[in-house]
Amino acid sequence: VQINASEIVSRLQPLFKGEIAKTAEVLEKYSRDASIFKIIPQIVVFPKDVEDISNLVKLVGALKSEGYEISVTPRAAGTDMGGGPLSASIVMDMTRHFNRILEIGADFAIVEPGVYFRDLEKEISSRRLMFPSYPASRELCTVGGMVANNAGGEKTLLYGKTDRYVEELHVILADGKEYLIRPRLGGELHNDDSWLGAVSREILDMVRDNADLLAKARPQVSKNSSGYALWDVFDKERGVFDLTKLFTGSQGTLGVITKIKFKILKTKPASRMLVIFLKNLKNVGDIVNVLRPFGLESLESYDDHTIKVAIKFLPQLVKRLKGNIFSLLWRFIPEAWMVITGGMPKLVLLAEFTAETDAASLFKAKAAREALRGFGLRIKMTRNKKDEEKYWLIRRESFNMLRQKLGVLHTAPFIDDFVVPPETLPSFLPELERILGRFDLIYTIAGHVGDGNFHIIPLMDLNDQKNKDIIKILSEEVYRLVLAYGGSITGEHNDGIVRTPYVRDMFGAEVYGLFVKTKQIFDPQNIFNPGKKVAGTWEYALAHISAF
Ligand SMILES: Cc1cc2nc3c(=O)[nH]c(=O)nc-3n(C[C@H](O)[C@H](O)[C@H](O)COP(=O)(O)OP(=O)(O)OC[C@H]3O[C@@H](n4cnc5c(N)ncnc54)[C@H](O)[C@@H]3O)c2cc1C
Repeated sequence: VQINASEIVSRLQPLFKGEIAKTAEVLEKYSRDASIFKIIPQIVVFPKDVEDISNLVKLVGALKSEGYEISVTPRAAGTDMGGGPLSASIVMDMTRHFNRILEIGADFAIVEPGVYFRDLEKEISSRRLMFPSYPASRELCTVGGMVANNAGGEKTLLYGKTDRYVEELHVILADGKEYLIRPRLGGELHNDDSWLGAVSREILDMVRDNADLLAKARPQVSKNSSGYALWDVFDKERGVFDLTKLFTGSQGTLGVITKIKFKILKTKPASRMLVIFLKNLKNVGDIVNVLRPFGLESLESYDDHTIKVAIKFLPQLVKRLKGNIFSLLWRFIPEAWMVITGGMPKLVLLAEFTAETDAASLFKAKAAREALRGFGLRIKMTRNKKDEEKYWLIRRESFNMLRQKLGVLHTAPFIDDFVVPPETLPSFLPELERILGRFDLIYTIAGHVGDGNFHIIPLMDLNDQKNKDIIKILSEEVYRLVLAYGGSITGEHNDGIVRTPYVRDMFGAEVYGLFVKTKQIFDPQNIFNPGKKVAGTWEYALAHISAF
């Protein structure tokens, strides 16, 4: 049974201290993230405190029991590329009131989920500390969104993804109560008579009963955000049961995160970068394999289309850097010249070597450059952080630049985040190029080449039905290839609306069945962010693709 927005508001208002909005302008704003989808919510709420969320979840549970179709979707900065924070029911914005940095210690930070990463970074970097799993959207996204998506980025190659840094979470579960989740000894669960205790025991039984199946299901790539990470929940050897592993990357489908304790690390002060210009993609895989043993902190890439876009949006781009505008523009003369003369490399690789001293990072970079000698490549070595800035800017901002309007063309992230084992790149990439080559597409390729993780972003007119068909065909073909190479459909951007229909293909029916059971255990009434991770269809996705 449908319930209308006014009725929800009248039931919620007496229980809620935060703001409730349903003006056309607000609904329009919350109808989009950075994906190809548009879904207009019924109302948007801004909870003031834990009690507000608790009351909202209880109300939604009660309305569900009365037979109404209603749900709650948490939202942070809305930079998700797959439709994760979109919903036709209630969207709950966490950035307005849950945005405090609560404590920073020598090796940890306690924060609310609506804190922007850039604000946390400012606080910790002044103490020579870092939270290394930040995404390329580091200037735009929040830490809560990073946990919910299990985000990764340029330093993931060495430091892993967000799940490695989540020590504790406060979450509101389907009974409307707030719980602390953290690693616990299996034995501790027996005496816990709370809802969390019951949920934990059911999950523990399920992962124990299916231990072999789950061990095989773990994707054999360096990063994965697809499905629920059931394979990481129970460490049999140490007897440790850790639901933070399951919650991280669960996209708001199991409950609402209200507080996070992160582990943070000391930064390494010295770094050198090799900028490697490739004329074609032929040797990428071999070059990556040569570089990987040198203890890289990152190995990133962007292509010729990205350089063209950078030059096109240069004035907006350089605003992100500090300094005199003319001297900043001057730094991009080589790239502008490449675009004018057509002498652009097909792919630029950024290989970063960090260490405690400049001599040590220089030593690593020189050794790696020497190892690449046989390929006959043009390689530039940076001298300091300032030298590196330009390349990082192009790499990090490439997708964001494309999101500016380009006539009728719209960024279309749908094969935006697959991962394959990097050692397979020499044979995988030509096959991928063959598939993409069959379609007349403009697209950029950037990504974390050291992890075998690529972000391919086509530019398309999303009003054209032909393009919607291409989205479906290409998704199917590319994911079939990725899975044949033992890869993952998403390394860090998560399943959202765009990939949930492929989760079963990725893991097989049996493991997918365990994901469905996981959702049922945590959220038997389907209160939280429905249709993501499990039970999403292509029909729904296709029906909600929308241009500006
Ligand atoms: C230019 C650009 C570059 C990007 N580069 C990367 C990249 O390099 N790596 C990467 O991993 N991602 C990348 N992304 C995707 C995205 O920015 C990240 O995944 C980011 O961490 C999402 O954070 P957010 O605050 O925008 O979350 P949102 O988009 O608001 O939400 C993301 C998901 O988290 C859920 N959620 C939000 N808050 C909560 C909460 N409190 N409790 C439970 N669930 C919650 C939402 O329901 C949604 O499913 C990029 C996006 C853009 C636009």
